[in-house]
Amino acid sequence: MNAKLKYSILGTTIMFIFILFFNFFYISSKSSSEVNKIDTNKNVTMLTFDDGPGEADLKILKILNNNNIHATFFEVGCNLAKYRFSDKFEEAHPELKKNEESVEDSKKSDSITTIVQKILNSGNFIGNHTYNHQKYVNKISSLIDELKITNMLIKEVYKENLGVDISSSQIPVRMPYLQYFPGVEYALKQAGNSYIARGYLGTDYFEKEAGVAKILTQYETHLKKGIIFCCHSKDYAQEWLPLLIEYLRDKNYTKFATFWPKNLDSSISSFKENSYENYGRLVK
Ligand SMILES: [Zn+2]
Repeated sequence: MNAKLKYSILGTTIMFIFILFFNFFYISSKSSSEVNKIDTNKNVTMLTFDDGPGEADLKILKILNNNNIHATFFEVGCNLAKYRFSDKFEEAHPELKKNEESVEDSKKSDSITTIVQKILNSGNFIGNHTYNHQKYVNKISSLIDELKITNMLIKEVYKENLGVDISSSQIPVRMPYLQYFPGVEYALKQAGNSYIARGYLGTDYFEKEAGVAKILTQYETHLKKGIIFCCHSKDYAQEWLPLLIEYLRDKNYTKFATFWPKNLDSSISSFKENSYENYGRLVK
């Protein structure tokens, strides 16, 4: 083989590999629904709380309300199902009917209903954190079903509390344990949701074991414009959350966005004021 031919084959091979890699990265970046922050030059953060609705949310809401801050709560469907939906909705969905409810269950239902109402009515947003909070590798059809039923519950609480019709595509999904694999994208499309909210995850869920100092350091060292902080609906939040808010204010981070989409109509203007869309696009 002469030298010219050798170089020509080598050149073609390199070009082929380059095109292959370019396509792979281009396609994978295009198809990803993952978002980690708002693309912005403003000092804004997004606070998110996973695993509710539950009693700890009342403590978190008190802190948020005292500081006039809004957040997004990624709710687990099986907790949300305890909400007292309208008779019409419960009749249409017998699978949610609380037959022979014990006094304890009934108290829990009342409590969840009040918590969800407080979350929504004070300007916070609710997202989908699956129905059973599992690991979904090899369980894609369960994931699709769980995202769909949780979307349905979320839509209904929006309708009943705020009188707004939210679509599945406007409901962000936070996967439990921030798990992510190609099947998650497929499930998301099947369920009609359009993005997976990730962001920075610290160790606040270990509560006392992690300790206030460690939790704060984690958030402080990852602070950047538009960052989504992934926190949890846990009682321990009352120890570190006021200090985090104070730190953010000291650093001139005074804006807190939610996932409220601007085209979602509400008679309450403060909902739109907190929309991430006032600052920029959600990006990976
Ligand atoms: Zn979770």
